[in-house]
Amino acid sequence: MGIGGAIKQFFSSPQRKVLVRDIIILLASIAVTFGLYPVLNYYFARTASITLSLPVIVAALLWGLRVGIIATAAASVTYIPVIYMIFEKDPWANYMHQGTWVGLAMTLIVCIVIGRDHDLTAKIRALNMKLSEQAKTDELTGLMNRRALLEAATIEIFRAKRQRADLDFFLKEGVAATPAQNDFKAKQRPEAYYGRFALAVVDIDNFKSINDTYGHLIGDRVLRAIAVLMRKTFRLTDIVGRYGGEEFLVIFPNTSAENARFAIDHVAATLRKERFTDDAGKIFTVSFSAGLSELTPEDADIDAVIKRADEALYRAKDAGRDRWVIWSLPPTEKRA
Ligand code: GH3
Ligand code: MG
Ligand code: MG
Repeated sequence: MGIGGAIKQFFSSPQRKVLVRDIIILLASIAVTFGLYPVLNYYFARTASITLSLPVIVAALLWGLRVGIIATAAASVTYIPVIYMIFEKDPWANYMHQGTWVGLAMTLIVCIVIGRDHDLTAKIRALNMKLSEQAKTDELTGLMNRRALLEAATIEIFRAKRQRADLDFFLKEGVAATPAQNDFKAKQRPEAYYGRFALAVVDIDNFKSINDTYGHLIGDRVLRAIAVLMRKTFRLTDIVGRYGGEEFLVIFPNTSAENARFAIDHVAATLRKERFTDDAGKIFTVSFSAGLSELTPEDADIDAVIKRADEALYRAKDAGRDRWVIWSLPPTEKRA
C-alpha cells in the first residue's frame, strides 16, 4: 500500500473520529486559554498561570487522560511566557517564572490523576456491561440462560395480563378492543392472540445416547445447531433460551398454544432433515419432544405454566418421542 492508500485508510478508520475530536479540543483549548488569559491576568496578574489549568482540568474531566494531555500542550503553547522562559538564560529567574512552572506541573498532575480515573471509570463501566451481558447468556449456545429467560417471562406475563384485562373490559362493553378490531374477520379476532402467552419446553430425544455414542463434543455441536435453528425459525419477538442441559424453553408472546405448535412443528421438521456427522464421518439425525402450555388467568407467575408444559413434555416422551403435546386436563380430571 502506498502513502496515499495508507492516508486514505486512516481517514476511513475509526481513528479518524478520534483525531478530529482531538483537533477540535486542541483548538478549543487554545481559544479558551487565549480568551481567559487576559481577563484573569487583569484581575489576578501574578497568578495568571492558573488560567492554564482551567481548560486542561475541564478537558481531563470530560474526555480523559489523552485529551487532557493535548489540552495541556495547547495551554502551554498559548501561554507565551513559557516559550520565552525556555529560551531565557535562567528560566527559574523569578517568582513569576517559578509560578508558571509550578502551575504547569500542577496542571499536568491534576490532568493525569483525573484523566486516569476517568479512563478507569470508563473501563469499569464497559466491563460491567460485558459482565451483565454474560450473566444473561448461555455460553455454549449464545441463547438466553435460565435466569434471563425467567426475567423475560415475568415481563411478558405482566404484559399479557394487562392486555387480557383490557380485552375483557372492551369485550364486555361491546366496544372494539383495538381500532382495527372491527375489520377483523371472525378467524382473526384479537382474542386469538391479544393477552395470550404460550410456552414450550423442548427436550432433545435420547441425548444421553448421542453423547455416549458420538462423544460430548458432538453433543455440544448438536445443542448449538438446534439453538441456531430455533433462533432462525421463531419470530423475533419469541424468546428462546437454554433452560438447562439439553432442554430449551421458548416463550411465545401474543400467541396461543395452538399457534405456537406450528412454529414448533416447523423446527421439528427442519431438524428431522438435518444430517449430523461425527468425527469419523458417521451420519446421524436428531429429534426432540416438546410440551406446550398457555398462560391462564389463574396463573400468578411462570412456574405454573412451565409445570404444565413439563407435564405435556412427559406425555410426548411417553407417547414415543419426536412429537409435541399441548397440555390439557387428563380425561379423568375433566369436569362436565
Ligand atoms: P429423553 O429422550 O428421555 O430426553 O432422554 P435423554 O437421554 O435426552 O435424557 P437424559 O435426561 O437421560 O439425558 C440428558 C443428557 O444430556 C445427559 C447429560 O449428560 C447431557 N447434557 C446435559 N448438558 C449437556 C451439555 O452441555 N453438553 C452435552 N454434550 N451434553 C449435555
Ligand atoms: Mg432432559
Ligand atoms: Mg432429553
